[in-house]
Amino acid sequence: MTPRKETVKNPRVRIAPSPTGYFHIGTARTALFNWLFAKKYDGKFIVRIEDTDKERSKIEFEKDIIEQMRWLGLTWDEGVEVGGDFGPYRQSECLDLYEKYLHQLIEKKRAYYCFCSAEELEIKKQEMMTRGESPRYDGSCRNLSADVIEEKLKNKIPYVIRIKTPDKKISFNDMIRGKVEFDCSLFGDQVIAKGFREPLYNFAVVVDDHHMRISHVIRGEDHLSNTPKQIVLYEALEWETPEFGHLPLILAPDKSKMSKRFGDVSVAEYRRTGYLAEALFNFIVFLGWHPEEKPGEVIKEILTKEEILESFDMKRVQKGGAIFNVDKLNWINSEHIKKLSINDLIEKSLPFLEESFGKEIFTDQKYLKKVIELHRERVKKLSDLTELIGYFFNLPDYPKELLVWKDSILENTKGNIDFLINLLSDLKNDNFTKNQLEVIVMPEAEKRGRGELLWPLRVALSGMKNSAGPFEIMPILGKKETLSRLKIALEKVQ
Ligand code: GLU
Repeated sequence: MTPRKETVKNPRVRIAPSPTGYFHIGTARTALFNWLFAKKYDGKFIVRIEDTDKERSKIEFEKDIIEQMRWLGLTWDEGVEVGGDFGPYRQSECLDLYEKYLHQLIEKKRAYYCFCSAEELEIKKQEMMTRGESPRYDGSCRNLSADVIEEKLKNKIPYVIRIKTPDKKISFNDMIRGKVEFDCSLFGDQVIAKGFREPLYNFAVVVDDHHMRISHVIRGEDHLSNTPKQIVLYEALEWETPEFGHLPLILAPDKSKMSKRFGDVSVAEYRRTGYLAEALFNFIVFLGWHPEEKPGEVIKEILTKEEILESFDMKRVQKGGAIFNVDKLNWINSEHIKKLSINDLIEKSLPFLEESFGKEIFTDQKYLKKVIELHRERVKKLSDLTELIGYFFNLPDYPKELLVWKDSILENTKGNIDFLINLLSDLKNDNFTKNQLEVIVMPEAEKRGRGELLWPLRVALSGMKNSAGPFEIMPILGKKETLSRLKIALEKVQ
């Protein structure tokens, strides 16, 4: 076992996604921690595509993985699309390399052909389970003679390749979990390839990590049980093992495991619903990590990428599961939205605005800016914006009952709307400002009851139970539109 390195210098780390699904939050987190680790210690971040699963790997998923990593602001020093000295960076292009090492392992008698059929293996497995043993390969083909092997190969008996696993305990110092120990006898001789050009994950990953000079393998805890199997291979190939670090599982709020295939955890989905890349980055990094608490200081949770990099430290990654809390994500997103300049906010909201209101919405930029400025504090995700501001671009549609304040009656509502129309008609256009409107309307609201007067006014303007206040809305809509909406309300209650 390699001794634990205390100081990290120029590490080479990687993310090795399998393109068998859209880029999801779990892989994004692994990518992000590796990226941070590389940046922090002046190392290299590598992107390798693990597409040995031919049936499930799709180019569309690979494209999504790359697109979303870029969107999150990750860059890589080597890997797919950027190249590098240790490629190819797609497993399907490395078959010659795997083949070479499979032959080497067989020649050195560290691996062997296994001709057992699936049916035979199943029977043996059942027998072991009946005896209360944990099922593992019984080693029938471990010591076949060269003649028998030759004969079977000549007769084209199907085979797989197994690694000889020593009956011993393997331990390693996990960067996050400390000492971890596994008893190899529990898993036995693993299949490492289905054929010379059909390597399986644990084998291909070891060959790649070695060839790409990976110094630290940082990945999700779901891979923890693969690590001893990979160490067996490092030993068989007489290669130095890298350091390993397993990030805590991401758990749903009820503490159940978040599923990889669970549609809405794909990064693209979050992007589509209006989460900012910097907010998602910020949120993801807190899934298992938080900055050091300094005495007398409150932990800052809204951080830029640069601030995260500044305080990032693997030692602060927790062992226990990280709960995925969507409310926290929404809060982080809203805080990042507040930090955007109005122009940036408009630009980032563009696809949402255009989809809901068409291109015309951008004709009056001044008006659009005022509307958005008024709502930015309430926006949790960019897609909320269109719902919040809809009434500024389309006449609101609402039932007349909504105009009636709490226990009031239609008759009073009608009287109050009528009163408002007269009151506001007298105001000059220039006086249609927040202050002036308050000066005119508020004393009347005190007399008639705040709710009695202000509620129907607000509903007439926005058509909503919850919206910005009437004194904010009126100056933006202007006198003409305000009066027109009040008249529509009056007609409703006639
Ligand atoms: N291809 C594996 C996955 O997508 C990652 C393997 C590794 O990091 O070792 O889960």
